Amino acid sequence: MPRCIFHLDLDTFFVAVERLLDPTLQGKPVIVSPGTARSVVATASYEARKFGVHSAMPFAQARRLCPQAVIVPGNFPAYQKASCAFFHILEAFSPDIEPASLDEAYIDYTNCQELFGPSLSAAGLIQRQVKSELGLDVSIGISTSKAVSKITSDLAKPSGILYVLPGYEAKLLAPLSIRKLMGIGPKSEPRYRAHGIRTIGDLAQLPKTLVTRVFGETGRILQNMARGEDYSPVQRRQSAKSLSHEETFAHDTTDREFLRHALHRLVCELGYRLRRYNLRTQKLCVKVRYADFSLHTRSQSLPRPTNLDGRLFETAVSLLDRLLIRRVRVRLLGFVAQDLAKHDQQLCLPDTPARERLDSLLMAADKLRSRYGYSIVQWASLLRREAE
Ligand SMILES: [Mg+2]
Repeated sequence: MPRCIFHLDLDTFFVAVERLLDPTLQGKPVIVSPGTARSVVATASYEARKFGVHSAMPFAQARRLCPQAVIVPGNFPAYQKASCAFFHILEAFSPDIEPASLDEAYIDYTNCQELFGPSLSAAGLIQRQVKSELGLDVSIGISTSKAVSKITSDLAKPSGILYVLPGYEAKLLAPLSIRKLMGIGPKSEPRYRAHGIRTIGDLAQLPKTLVTRVFGETGRILQNMARGEDYSPVQRRQSAKSLSHEETFAHDTTDREFLRHALHRLVCELGYRLRRYNLRTQKLCVKVRYADFSLHTRSQSLPRPTNLDGRLFETAVSLLDRLLIRRVRVRLLGFVAQDLAKHDQQLCLPDTPARERLDSLLMAADKLRSRYGYSIVQWASLLRREAE
């Protein structure tokens, strides 16, 4: 069975997110750039591209080409949030996802057709879901390889889906400029042009031995791509094995209350991160660096995986107590969550009513934090200490 590889690319991603934040930007030429004399264009809306503005162009030049454009400085946390939501949608369609950037991904859909139907209808489903849940447009290229799908999604823009029938890859690519091939940029293009290679088809039909002799190993790989022969696998994102937080104190200290309080803060921050990534931990580690720079750690497995502040702190504080047997001042305190597992892979056992009340309180706090920032909700015990 031929492979079925999707390349998905959100259309003018930064601009699209900016327009969600400020709908008055709709329909206007928009340039995302710090807007300083030496800065470059991060991305430009289609309206600005009509004037010749494109990504990576010096801002001053873009300004000259399109003086009426609205300049926005960029909002990275908002882009990141949208990106996470995008990948979250994709995760439901295939376990084999390779992120290529914040707004680009490859999916190996070959073995998923039984679940979500033929590739074209799945692509339609993804497109509609991304639009309805995130308000963003995504273009999707589908073919038997990553290289071809990457080019195809570009041809499908804006917000299109393009499917290349197996066996027709080279035909589709042939008339396109050599620049469309991944790996051929403004520096290498003239070398190929000097040999009369203008289109992908030109490269495809040259004898292999000649290409290897003139352009080396890179040329050979590019020629394979030009012929639609790319067998590189979709490489699944390595999920984190552990998450950690640490703090180096302004002054070395032996104050136990101070250290417990600092640990509580680290635990809460890490708990929040675990819950946001939908992860639980099964092993905790507390580390202490003393004023003499020696590093000491204690770790402990948990009876069951968790991501709840209270449970994390119970174990963490007992580890800290076991560490603080020396009367040496502490310079750094760290907290590590190890043996991470996705939330839904774990059996969820019922808990005591008091615990459940606490958990739902935590969930409500997380909701507020995801909207207004982490520090909007804090445990009173943490605030009291800070006020002292
Ligand atoms: Mg994009």
